[in-house]
Amino acid sequence: MIVKKTPEQLEMMARAGKVLAEVIKEMGEAIRPGVSLKELDEMAERSMRLRGGVPSFLGYNGFPASICASPNDMVVHGIPDGRELKEGDIFSADFGLILDGWHADSAHTFAVGEISAEARKLMDVTESALAAGIACCRPGNRLGDIGHAVQEVIESAGMSVVREFVGHGIGRSLHEDPQVPNYGKAGRGPVLEEGWVMAIEPMVNIGGWQTRLLDDQWGVVTADGSLSAHFEHTVAVTADGPRILTAL
Ligand code: MG
Ligand code: MG
Repeated sequence: MIVKKTPEQLEMMARAGKVLAEVIKEMGEAIRPGVSLKELDEMAERSMRLRGGVPSFLGYNGFPASICASPNDMVVHGIPDGRELKEGDIFSADFGLILDGWHADSAHTFAVGEISAEARKLMDVTESALAAGIACCRPGNRLGDIGHAVQEVIESAGMSVVREFVGHGIGRSLHEDPQVPNYGKAGRGPVLEEGWVMAIEPMVNIGGWQTRLLDDQWGVVTADGSLSAHFEHTVAVTADGPRILTAL
């Protein structure tokens, strides 16, 4: 069941989203060679709590940390540990926060110092794919339009879109209906309505789309070891078009 949000509820979600955007900006400024994933996790948790938020991911299905920390060939769901970022890495971090009962969900891939042209292209393509998906979040469009737009950007750049993980509705729960795949056919699926809120989140690999689960049963890496990037925003469907809630 897709739970539509009232204008008042959207404002509450926008507050949660803005706070999360501040947390991500602050953490982005701390990213440099030598900083450990654990330090970044602690920093993000502190930053959320200082602003009155609670980390959505901590304890979610038993996840042991406040952010998902996924460097280089890791796609999603990395558990932050003592590993240190190094010059030339890319680092995908996924953040969720609850403020006054409302969830916000956003992910960002960061460059650590100077990165390769190939890694830069991957990040640019993933952000462009997210923007293309967000642009479809209008009343009257269909759910399949989003995945189709996302997939088109990625595959026309010669990269591949991860299939096993999808975007999702969001609100009082972190994951609500509908599921929002990053691939699909335009013109298919339910018609988008005012008041829907979805987390749009393409995960893009330079190589093949296949992934592999690590032994910790959380971290997911690309099957072929190629680099992966992940960008995500929480987006509302409004009469005026898409409204990005996880923006500053
Ligand atoms: Mg997320
Ligand atoms: Mg999400």
